[in-house]
Amino acid sequence: MLGILKRLIRQPRPHPSIGAAQWRRIEATLPFLEALGTSERARLREMALEFIAAKEWHGAQGLALTQDIQLSIALQACLPVLNLGLDSYKGWVGVIVYPGDFVIPRRQMSEDGVVHEFDDEVAGEAWEGGPVLLSWFDDPQQADGMNVVIHEFAHKLDMLNGPPDGLPPLHEGMRRQDWVDAFEPAWRDFCARVDDGEDTFIDPYAAEHPAEFFAVTSEVFFEAPDLLLAEYPAVYAQMKQFYRQDPAAALSR
Ligand SMILES: [Zn+2]
Repeated sequence: MLGILKRLIRQPRPHPSIGAAQWRRIEATLPFLEALGTSERARLREMALEFIAAKEWHGAQGLALTQDIQLSIALQACLPVLNLGLDSYKGWVGVIVYPGDFVIPRRQMSEDGVVHEFDDEVAGEAWEGGPVLLSWFDDPQQADGMNVVIHEFAHKLDMLNGPPDGLPPLHEGMRRQDWVDAFEPAWRDFCARVDDGEDTFIDPYAAEHPAEFFAVTSEVFFEAPDLLLAEYPAVYAQMKQFYRQDPAAALSR
């Protein structure tokens, strides 16, 4: 009986059928998908449908969560794990979408023991073991190196081995020391550039913490890979191994 139940539960939900025109309309707003070949793009679409079915979706603050919004988010969320598999996003189910930036009430205790309460306006957040919160903007996305969906899902990958620290679980054949040797000097260099007031292409938010540096450079890896390759080649090389993709090479072909 239990076996039958298990089998029933495991039955995948049937995918909705999405027409070619709808896919094209959504993908046209995600120009960085150009780096993918035809078969990779087909695989990404398939994965996006699986991802939508596997997660619980919620539109917050009155946002009507349309199929187009879900597909757009799912395509972006699945891009980093295209060659890693959807299992990378196991252990949590919620995707909560807000209309634009949203406010998270925070409580923080300072060193003198005083509790401060304040509102933090954010575009996204990923909770360890919990949902991903995202803001949705109707304007088509530009390939400007910034991508809140990739950012939050990079945090999810980072959290696969504990609190986010910029060091996700590495694959066999990758060395932790190589990762640290690539990321640590790059992050220090980037912090110095931000401190000097340089107008960096990479979002200065990356200077906040090594975990943010990993999430922000993941955005750049997929949205403006040639730029990350030029600025921090060692970081690019590690990410190429980690994501098992080489978007800079794909774009130059
Ligand atoms: Zn972040």
